[in-house]
Formats: sequence, C-alpha cells, structure tokens
Amino acid sequence: TVRTRFAPSPTGLLHIGGVRTALFSWAYAKKHGGQFILRIEDTDLERSTPESVAAILDGMHWVNMGYDEGPFYQMQRMDRYKEVIAQLLANGTAYYCYCSKEELEAQRAAAEAKGEKPRYDRTWRPEEGKTLPAIPADIKPVVRFKTPIGGSVVWEDQVKGRIEIGHAELDDLIIARPDGTPTYNFCVVVDDADMRISHVIRGDDHVNNTPRQIVIYEAMGVPVPVFAHLPMINNDQGVKLSKRRDAVSVVDYDTQGFLPEALLNYLARLGWGHGDDEIFSLEQFVEWFDLKDVSGSPSRMDRDKLLWTNAQYIKAADPARLAARVAGFLADKGIHTEGGPALADVCTLLKDRCQTLVEMADQAEYFYQPLTPTAEIVEKHLDPESEERLKVFAAEAAKLENWDAATIGAFIKEFVKEQGVKMPQVGMPLRAKVCGITNTPSVDAVLALIGREEVLRRLTA
Ligand code: GLU
Repeated sequence: TVRTRFAPSPTGLLHIGGVRTALFSWAYAKKHGGQFILRIEDTDLERSTPESVAAILDGMHWVNMGYDEGPFYQMQRMDRYKEVIAQLLANGTAYYCYCSKEELEAQRAAAEAKGEKPRYDRTWRPEEGKTLPAIPADIKPVVRFKTPIGGSVVWEDQVKGRIEIGHAELDDLIIARPDGTPTYNFCVVVDDADMRISHVIRGDDHVNNTPRQIVIYEAMGVPVPVFAHLPMINNDQGVKLSKRRDAVSVVDYDTQGFLPEALLNYLARLGWGHGDDEIFSLEQFVEWFDLKDVSGSPSRMDRDKLLWTNAQYIKAADPARLAARVAGFLADKGIHTEGGPALADVCTLLKDRCQTLVEMADQAEYFYQPLTPTAEIVEKHLDPESEERLKVFAAEAAKLENWDAATIGAFIKEFVKEQGVKMPQVGMPLRAKVCGITNTPSVDAVLALIGREEVLRRLTA
C-alpha cells in the first residue's frame, strides 16, 4: 500500500513550500487509497521550538489537510534510533571512530593540500586483516556508517529521473555523535523504514541526502522507498522564496484574507498541471494527480494568479462561511456588526467584487458606518444641488410602502425622471452620501440592505 509522509522541521512557521510538498504527498496517498503521515523532525534542539510545532499543526489544520497517522516526534523515538545503531554496530555495518578533532582537521588539510575533496581517511574502519589503532582513553567515539567501497547508489527519481552517485562520494557518514545522539540522515531512514513509507515525496533541497539514506536502508535490510524530489518555488522575481522577503507562511495568507482551498488550488498548480484546468476541487486534484506529471524545473509564485484564484473561490463560497471570517477582519478595525444588516447578506452582495476577505471587510465597512468621503468625491458628487436633491429623495423615500431592492429600484427610476436628470446624477450622490464611496454594488441593493431608517439618517445628516 502507498504510505507517504510530510516531515517538517519545527524551526519556523509553516511555509507554503512545505504546504505544497504536503499537498502532493497527501494527494498521492489519497489517490492510491493509502495513508498520509505527519512527522515532526525536532532533533535539532537549537533550532526547534514548541511555538513552531504549534504553528505547523495550526497551519495543517487551517488548510484542512488531515493526516492518517501522527504527529510523530523524533525526540520521542531516541531509544529506537539507539537500538538500530546498536544493531548496525553488531552486524558490522557501523563502527566506532575515535579520531580527535585535531586529527580530522589534519586529514582535511592534507586532502585540501592535494587538491582533493576533504574526506575521512577511514583510520577506524574495520576491514579484514586490518589492525586498528589502540583505543585512546580520552576520546568519546562517534559512530560511522560503513559505506560500501566501489559501486554506486542508483535510484529512479519520480520527478528527476535516474540518478546515480558513486559510493566514493559519500564518505563514512557519522550516524551518532560522541554523546550517542543520532544524526539527521540516520533518523530519517529509521523513521521512514519503521513507518513503512513507500514514497518519499519532498523538496529537492534533500536530493543530496538521498544516496546517504539509501545505503542505510540497504544495511538495515529494509525496502528502499520510491523517491520524488519536488523543485523549489521561486518568488515572482525568480528568486527562491524567502521567509524574510516574501509572505510565505500559511498564517500570512490567513491574515491577508485568502481561503485555504484557494491557496491549495493555487499550490497544486505550482509544478503540476492538468491541461488548462485552473479551478478544481481537491477531490478532482486527487483523481488527476500523478508524480510523473510534476515538472522538473522550479515554479514561480504569481501573486496575481493567486488573487484571481482566491476571487473565484470567494464567488463560489457559502456567504455564512465568508461572514464568519469577515467579521473577524471587521472587528480588527473596531467595527461591530450587531444591529446592522446580516453580514452574510453583505457578503452575498460583495462576493463578486473582492479578491480577498480583507478587501471584502473593507467594502463591508460602510454597511455598518458611513465612510468619510474624500474631498474629490464631495466635489464631484455632493455639490449643493445634489445635496438638495438628496433631501427631496429622502422625504419621498420615507413614504415608500416597502423597503426592498425592487421597490427602491423602481422608485429611483421614477425619481430620476421626475427630476429631469440622468441616472448617475442620482445614483452617485446617493452612494457618496450614504456610503462615503461610489464604488459599490447596485445602489438599490445597497440601500435595501442598510435599511430605511439608517439610510434616511445618513441622507439627512
Ligand atoms: N525535515 C526536513 C525539512 O523540513 C524534511 C525531511 C524529509 O522530508 O525527508 O526540510
């Protein structure tokens, strides 16, 4: 069965590059009726924080990507790693190395002097017929992996194609430090083996780790998973996304008013595509997705495309759901919706006009309190003549039998005729006076929603 995983290091917020990796891993498992596993790689004690773990879990929750198993934490698996190290020591595929810092330094300098790649000189590597030096009393050893000599590691990368790396390039990797703690590449292999991961789908910044990991699978005598390395995501200037320069964490997209499904739909198309299809559901994505269609070259974040995608999802969203989030953005601005029109109705009216929910909240504001018109709007639409006309309008509007968009629309038409003016000469001043801006949905619908009492209050203010 197919089992995939997402294995973030908790050293910061959940990055959208990570979300894309998780999405492809998740989709691949779902497509094949398999499982998707979350594993937190928290062994780097200097850089891992509980806040980051929380941010990752929150981020996964925000994009609504469920995992079938986990979260597992590497720090809780230390005994297991030590157990495997002991096994490798016992079966001769790992060994203790007692070289001091100074000796390693000297080996490095000697290699560099000869113009060679610095490498460990295998002093402590046990071989048949070789006598090892006497064990120094004052050195705590590291454990090294006995990389085969000669030959190479080959794998058929599902994105990058066949990759072959000579064993000679790999050195004898340190798998345990002097204090006995296991090192990164080793833990990943033990985990992926124990968690029976069939497909390792991850960023191609890990491609150099893969041959180092494959030799360990082989020494452990466990099946080697299939690998797929996803190209990086660049920003719109073609530079690798950076946490500092670009808005890249999931929480940024939350606070900027994106819908999680729009973000996922957009990310699905970074490095993968299905013809010209742009908007599709997650279910559809799962059905279409295949690793062989993932592009081998970096993709580019396109903010306009993301905004467009978000707009499509806002249009199609349930207004009650939009309202729940827009209420939060309004509250941040100090605007409370109690006593005003139902926010879901406001969202219904605005949802074809906004690319983000922040924009929607900005536009929703005048339904609850009039904005102050700019000098330009006052000059253009609220001259004394228009103001006079609005007073007449208010007096007649007060007498209307009903207050709904159809009644108001018919009344405005009549009023325009009666005043001998053109539609914009009534519509624009009405918007300017009632809302404070002129860029609004159809004026009859806006007035209906704001309510007669409030409209009359604003018109005569
Ligand atoms: N922990 C690694 C990272 O955050 C991922 C390792 C892997 O997927 O094998 O980049």
